[in-house]
Amino acid sequence: MGTYDERPWLARYRSDYPADIEPEYPSALAMFSAALERSPDTEIVRYFDGTITLRELDRLSDRFAVALADRGFDKGHRLATYLQNIPQVLIAVIGTWKAGGIVVSINPMSRTRELTTLLLDCEATALLAEEDLFGQVAAEVVPTIPSLRIAWTTSPLEYQTRHDERLFKGLERTRHEGTEDLSEVLESVGDRKPEPVELGPDDVAFLGYTSGTTGPPKGAMNTHRNVVFNAQTYRDWIQLGPQDSVLGVAPLFHITGVIGHMAIALLVPIPLVLAYRFEPQVVLDAIREHRPTFSIGSITVFIALMNAEGAQRDDLASMTRLYSGGAPIPPSTIKAFSDQFGLYIHNFYGLTETSSPSHGVPREADAPVDTASGALSVGVPIFSTVVRIVRDDGTDADVGEVGEIVTRGPQVVPGYWNKPEETQNALRAPDGSVELKTGDVGYMDDQGWFYVVDRKKDQINAGGYKVWPREVEDVLYEHPAVREAAVVGVPDEYRGETVKAFVSVRPGQQVEPDELIAFCKERMSAYKYPRQVELMDEIPKTVTGKLLRRALR
Ligand code: AMP
Repeated sequence: MGTYDERPWLARYRSDYPADIEPEYPSALAMFSAALERSPDTEIVRYFDGTITLRELDRLSDRFAVALADRGFDKGHRLATYLQNIPQVLIAVIGTWKAGGIVVSINPMSRTRELTTLLLDCEATALLAEEDLFGQVAAEVVPTIPSLRIAWTTSPLEYQTRHDERLFKGLERTRHEGTEDLSEVLESVGDRKPEPVELGPDDVAFLGYTSGTTGPPKGAMNTHRNVVFNAQTYRDWIQLGPQDSVLGVAPLFHITGVIGHMAIALLVPIPLVLAYRFEPQVVLDAIREHRPTFSIGSITVFIALMNAEGAQRDDLASMTRLYSGGAPIPPSTIKAFSDQFGLYIHNFYGLTETSSPSHGVPREADAPVDTASGALSVGVPIFSTVVRIVRDDGTDADVGEVGEIVTRGPQVVPGYWNKPEETQNALRAPDGSVELKTGDVGYMDDQGWFYVVDRKKDQINAGGYKVWPREVEDVLYEHPAVREAAVVGVPDEYRGETVKAFVSVRPGQQVEPDELIAFCKERMSAYKYPRQVELMDEIPKTVTGKLLRRALR
């Protein structure tokens, strides 16, 4: 499938798929408006027993936009969402675009320090937080963010559910000091319409925070062009049509959920089935009830479904379009899943910086496995995407030779928010054009299939959740007994990788591994804290004092 590309300014490898795909709409908002016009009664969200049609989403998002504008929210302003997978995410996204703004989707697992860092970095004007999360975390953060003018809270939803009383309390309006309840805000607007705003392909639609190829979190600027292009990619690569529906198992704050769930649903348009957060039994019930046909998730989703109590072959029979992304998936898992459910999982590969996939396994193919490494191929470059494998000296590697994966295409973000240096390092070719150094190490075989075999970056991939070792080390250093700390990823059957810390203790101090684990757990997202701590006399370092993470791994 690979061909040699003669264009000297570009790379040498690309797939045979069409190379000149243009985004069909100037913005993701125009994409939404077109869907609304074609099919206003499409149930765009199915959430337990409730649904929202495109027409209703239009009305609610109009009010959301008016309410933002009333409070001084302007074109280019940032609204941060701090929510699980609930319908309000879509109201906030479309409403923010209607007000000309940028959505910053923040992981609801973020704790005080993480939330503060992101809100300060993007200089958010507005925050929409889930009520419980507001009380637990955001309430103390909000007063410390000088740019913040609007703080809204919302409850998991006005839909009762028979599934889990614990998660869904129904509609209770609790307001925190200085915040407004979203339902009241929307009601108060009535039928006023927002002033039209101009949004173009280069305007930023989302900021997706990622540790990227270097440590601290950076907001990848997913433009409207990026969003529309990759929604088209999903539709055409997976061959989705109006008869399909999407199961939202990936988090809507992550690029996989943003594009692979939300944007694709809005483009076709087709229903998006939401299940709050991933709990196998709840998701299984949602599949049984709504019979979705397509989903994309990480390996942990597929393993959890295989182990879900009472999961039968028939339950998943509608899900004929299954994709895995965000983390490696071993061929053995694909086989076990296929044996149990008779369904093949296609591999997708991409980064936040590629607004979701840059590579995919074509529908008609089973991905090959590399005999030497045992790695499953991540597929071939998708439409209009050109990929190079680059040696350390910057020259192009040969077929079969391992190097860094470097990607170019309409899905690559133009930069990181307010980070010119990082943008220059990771997202610019020497001639100044946009090109992403992925930090992933891989190769292409003589048939054009790509394989990811390692990472140049220190990032840990815990079932799709990315952990930057430095962030965990920084927290460990806050503990009075810690002299030195080094954090690495170690193999884990369920998550692929999990976080392990090596710690040396200050002279005269004593600490148990469990205490350090608890210390971190309290201060960071659940997926980040170390699951294992090993005490050592001395952390191995190079002569220049650099941690030898590879040796520790
Ligand atoms: P994120 O920015 O969170 O989407 O993370 C992107 C990173 O996830 C990539 O740089 C890879 O290291 C990893 N990744 C994504 N998809 C795959 C895949 N199919 N196989 C192996 N690693 C993957």
